[in-house]
Amino acid sequence: MRISSAADGVSAFPLRSPSPSLVADVGGVIFPPHIEAPKTPLALSLEAPTESEHVPGMHAQHQSFGHRVMVVIVVLLPALGVVAAGWFTWGFGLDWISLALFAGMYIATGLGITVGYHRLFTHRSFETGRVMTWVWAVLGSMASEGPVIQWCGMHRMHHQHSDKELDPHSPHQHGGDTAWSAVKGAFYAHMGWLFASNPPGLARYVKDLRADPVVLAVSRQFVLWVLVGLALPAIIGGLVTMSWSGALLGFIWGGLVRMFMVHHVTWSINSVCHIWGGRTYESHDESRNNLIFGVLAFGEGWHNNHHAFPASARHGLKWWQFDSSYLLIKAMQKVGLVTKVRVPDAERLKAKEVKHGKLADTHQHAHAS
Ligand SMILES: [Zn+2]
Ligand SMILES: [Zn+2]
Repeated sequence: MRISSAADGVSAFPLRSPSPSLVADVGGVIFPPHIEAPKTPLALSLEAPTESEHVPGMHAQHQSFGHRVMVVIVVLLPALGVVAAGWFTWGFGLDWISLALFAGMYIATGLGITVGYHRLFTHRSFETGRVMTWVWAVLGSMASEGPVIQWCGMHRMHHQHSDKELDPHSPHQHGGDTAWSAVKGAFYAHMGWLFASNPPGLARYVKDLRADPVVLAVSRQFVLWVLVGLALPAIIGGLVTMSWSGALLGFIWGGLVRMFMVHHVTWSINSVCHIWGGRTYESHDESRNNLIFGVLAFGEGWHNNHHAFPASARHGLKWWQFDSSYLLIKAMQKVGLVTKVRVPDAERLKAKEVKHGKLADTHQHAHAS
């Protein structure tokens, strides 16, 4: 098995605004100097971790029966909400308030995942102050995809071992080249992995986040913020219409249907965007650029770009690759809310571009790894 270098696409990553306080990097993640970065051999050794149990802000390493039941509820309840929304729409039509609550909550919590959980906390692709740190951690938590520290640990591990044996949610590690193994792999990458226990050594990927009191506090309050994310559209819907039915529709559309959409769009980055789409840049995995999820997932669908340049705040690296998360990051930078927005320079982009006729080599390389 070939292990992707911890520094793939990162160590020589030229920063537009280099941050002298950040030195060690792993799979696109830059760790502050006082935090020991996880090393590939450690993560690979599968040795029994001593600190993964009861890590603050993270699920216990071994999922209890109760926790698995919770995951089933979090997966099934939004699906039931979609059925209920369909039934109400069939019977009574669809009102603008429900639609607006769905869109508003989809945008707020979806960006909470892409700008907050992913680009800010996992990859440190820009910096911000304490208030914005709190805002992004809370918005991401409302998406109900797990506590922020847990989410970032899994995603950093995904980058370090992308589409290799230790990738927590690769669609490509599920048997031979049969159609059944492809289906199994796609399902596992999409949502099957949610039911697995934490991989050994996961806690080592998030020492920097555990050292941040704001991130740690929000991570521990995860369930509270999920409930707030469900209650908020119900309260707004009830107040705007001054009716219980308005509150119910707000809960269904702004809470459950929105959660269903954000979940499946995010999970599709792990499943669809490691299977279908084009490759613009060289990366040691099967990551793909997918137009549909480039739009639906606020720029995250340019996933091959992201694996080639994991620390970049910008995922849509070509002018036509629409990346709404990056537009928001740039807008926040303009008004002084964020600083040190990292993007690769033109030279670095050119060097990694997949050359004409070299695509097959890249694929073979990824398969042989
Ligand atoms: Zn990926
Ligand atoms: Zn990432």
